[in-house]
Amino acid sequence: MNELEEYLAGYIQSHGSVDIGQFMIIALSHPVHGYYMKQDPFGRGGDFTTAPEISQMFGEMIGVWVADVWEKMGKPAQFTLLECGPGRGTLMADLLRVAPFKNNCEVHLLEMSPVLKALQAKAVPDAQWHESLDTIPCNRPVIIIANEFLDALPVRQFQKIEKGWMERVVNFNGREFEFKWEKSSSPLVPQQSGGRFNDVFEISPSRNTFTKSLSHLIKQTKGAALLIDYGHVQPGYGDTLQAVKEHRYVPVLRHIGDADLTAHVDFHAIAEEAKSAGVAVSGPVEQGVFLKSLGIEMRAEYLKTKAKNADDIESALHRLVASDQMGSLFKVMGLSYDTLLQPAGF
Ligand code: SAH
Repeated sequence: MNELEEYLAGYIQSHGSVDIGQFMIIALSHPVHGYYMKQDPFGRGGDFTTAPEISQMFGEMIGVWVADVWEKMGKPAQFTLLECGPGRGTLMADLLRVAPFKNNCEVHLLEMSPVLKALQAKAVPDAQWHESLDTIPCNRPVIIIANEFLDALPVRQFQKIEKGWMERVVNFNGREFEFKWEKSSSPLVPQQSGGRFNDVFEISPSRNTFTKSLSHLIKQTKGAALLIDYGHVQPGYGDTLQAVKEHRYVPVLRHIGDADLTAHVDFHAIAEEAKSAGVAVSGPVEQGVFLKSLGIEMRAEYLKTKAKNADDIESALHRLVASDQMGSLFKVMGLSYDTLLQPAGF
């Protein structure tokens, strides 16, 4: 067992089984041994590759989106550009390189990992860091971007077994970790009538709380947000919790703290939460559709004329937009303080 597994086994032995949400929090963000707290997980030598790490074109297109929103806001002289979960800081660095609003924005980053904060400080030296949305200044518009952030926030799972809907939890039986099913005290358990035998239903109170705070920030500062993640547009049944290590799927209860853990984002739930806070929702649309409508193909053509490796640019474009790559699974949703803002790309 690794150190995190030792800790988790001890925790379960003294506190009892943990729900999937608690399991994700411990595995990803235990202050010392959590997956994001101790290493840089990205790229070829790491565990997974995200869109900004594939090509500069991704960050540049997000920059085009921010520039459009900023113009539609009437080009405020000062605004906050906030990225949630910036990874290595690559997206923000690519975005700022082409930004017409560079002198008008203050860059703020929401990040919990000390290892990634250090990398972000190299990529974006003038940034300011936060661990919660509560400390973001409210006296000027905030434009927020988040790529593959929501999928790292914890979900809880319920499964329909012989006894009806029960919560799926993680137990330690003295030898190994195992799933168990417990009667849930949560009022969020799906309706007893719905679902078939073995169906899994996921909820994410953490994402709902985050979306609520984000929406209040958007309303309060007359701001906007762009959320990009893999997920579904309609709610439904399915176990989407997955662990990835060295670019391969691994069993969720193996390599705890040494594998990335994510779950698909239910964009319907995000939209409902935002709307109930009075925020206008655009999309979700597929990432491929979004990037093309912002002009990624033109940008690729231009870069090809400048670069020695035109084939690399073409293959990066394909990875980002093709339906059998990231183009369809990943969705993009816009949030804004007013329906009149109508951000680009939707
Ligand atoms: N956006 C980046 C990184 C995605 S990985 C990219 O596209 O490459 C998820 C990021 O969110 C990491 O930076 C991770 O440390 C951060 N993160 C995950 N959960 C977080 C939380 N609860 N609070 C703050 N940051 C978090």
